[in-house]
Amino acid sequence: MSVTFSALGVPAHLANVLSESGIETPFPIQEATLPSTLAGGDVLGRGQTGSGKTLAFSLPLVARLSERPQRRKARFPRALIMAPTRELATQIAKTVDPLAKASGLRTTVIYGGVAQSRQEKAVNEGVDIVIACPGRLDDLIKQKIVDLSQLEISVLDEADHMADMGFLPVVRRIMDRMPTGIQHMLFSATLDNGVDKVVKRYLSNPTVHSVDAPEAAVNTMEHHVFVVPNDDKKELIRVLAQGTARRIMFMRTKHHAKKMAVTLSKAGVPAVDLHGNLSQNARDRNLAAFASGEAKVLVATDVAARGVHVDGVELVVHIDPPAEHKAYTHRSGRTARAGSDGTVVTICTPDQQGDVASLLKQAGLKVPFEKVTLDSPVVAKVVGEVAEHVPYVAPVQQKRNPAKKKPAGESSNARGSRNGGRNARGGNSSGEGQARGGERRRSDREGAPRQSERTSREARGASAGRPARSARGANSERPSNSSRGARTGGRNAGAAAGGRSRGPRRAASPASNGR
Ligand code: AMP
Repeated sequence: MSVTFSALGVPAHLANVLSESGIETPFPIQEATLPSTLAGGDVLGRGQTGSGKTLAFSLPLVARLSERPQRRKARFPRALIMAPTRELATQIAKTVDPLAKASGLRTTVIYGGVAQSRQEKAVNEGVDIVIACPGRLDDLIKQKIVDLSQLEISVLDEADHMADMGFLPVVRRIMDRMPTGIQHMLFSATLDNGVDKVVKRYLSNPTVHSVDAPEAAVNTMEHHVFVVPNDDKKELIRVLAQGTARRIMFMRTKHHAKKMAVTLSKAGVPAVDLHGNLSQNARDRNLAAFASGEAKVLVATDVAARGVHVDGVELVVHIDPPAEHKAYTHRSGRTARAGSDGTVVTICTPDQQGDVASLLKQAGLKVPFEKVTLDSPVVAKVVGEVAEHVPYVAPVQQKRNPAKKKPAGESSNARGSRNGGRNARGGNSSGEGQARGGERRRSDREGAPRQSERTSREARGASAGRPARSARGANSERPSNSSRGARTGGRNAGAAAGGRSRGPRRAASPASNGR
């Protein structure tokens, strides 16, 4: 018989919370690390997204804090979880919150691109667990709003992505403010780019767990390379986009991602975009639309997709082949999460075949190149059941009144509970994270634009096409095989609907964005 959470030492009240959402049997990473982490041991998890690492660190964190209840003190959290992107931080909070609530612990999420005041207020009222992106947290520490001197547990999630995004110096600065000897849990798919140094410096005799290496995850997927002439590529993209299940399509540039989402929406396939030019609110809205099934397709760039944790994605399409094999692995990892099936298609024009071949070789994959037409049986098989055509409703263009400057952020969407504030103009920048100054890496393809660019663009809406209202009915078409996805979708859908019905949300303060 398989081991239970309780048998591993998870307190009954937390095992009950898991059981309520159908989680009864630990995943390998949880089984391997919980006995040590529940006892306060450090862990280095080489687990990949989808392996169950979030619970692997959330359970011991909450269990250990609730074991020794303390009076909450303003400014002094007891545990900190750092994540590279806002999406990931939000996703982690969704896992931690019910566990914390059942234990009488308070959590808050801290990230940039939104007003600081609410986060400041939460910290001042006292929180036990902070889930944060490093940039904003660093700001709050400098302003003496957050003090880590009484921290008991630290988690660093997706440290390799932190390194890729240039966050490690900020992360190290933050970790240097923690007391020595506290429990550290660090999760990273690789130890490249200085992650090994962080491990050495802060972790003490960690349990190392790496069952779920990226290659293993990749092997659970079905891979295809579809070779098509340049002229047929656009049509093949449309055909691949039209299935009933969720699909993520990757493009290299923000501009192309935005344009493609509009093109697909106009072709009757509700699509939203996700890239570094969107405001936080637009990103949340688009992700919620995707998670709820309102939009079937998410057109994303590499950096933006890093924090995307939506279950039930059955197909990943590399519209533009990724630049290197690590990106192939990360992009492809958006499907086949937590052991479910997934298909990955790379669209390859004849001139790209050499690059794609060497990319796949580096990723350790043998994938035949298939010359396809739009009618090829293999294309039809990948597409699966074709979704109903959804008429496109053009987004409402907003009149700009130069005499009366709109406040930044969500204000431009105040009128738009009907259209969700989405319009095709886009151009709103929030960037991926909060790396600044010398720490930020910019790339022509994707990355955080300069902060000074933000405020002026902030007032513009930011999404691609708008699925017609009828697309909401699409929820019912969600494939039944993804009960986890359905749960995630339900939660996000609720959030989206809630957000909209509340009407205008608080505008991001130019002061906080302008950094
Ligand atoms: P993560 O790798 O933490 O992003 O988790 C991936 C997905 O697996 C999430 O939807 C979790 O809710 C789910 N999950 C994590 N642990 C378990 C488990 N032991 N049993 C079933 N589902 C799980």
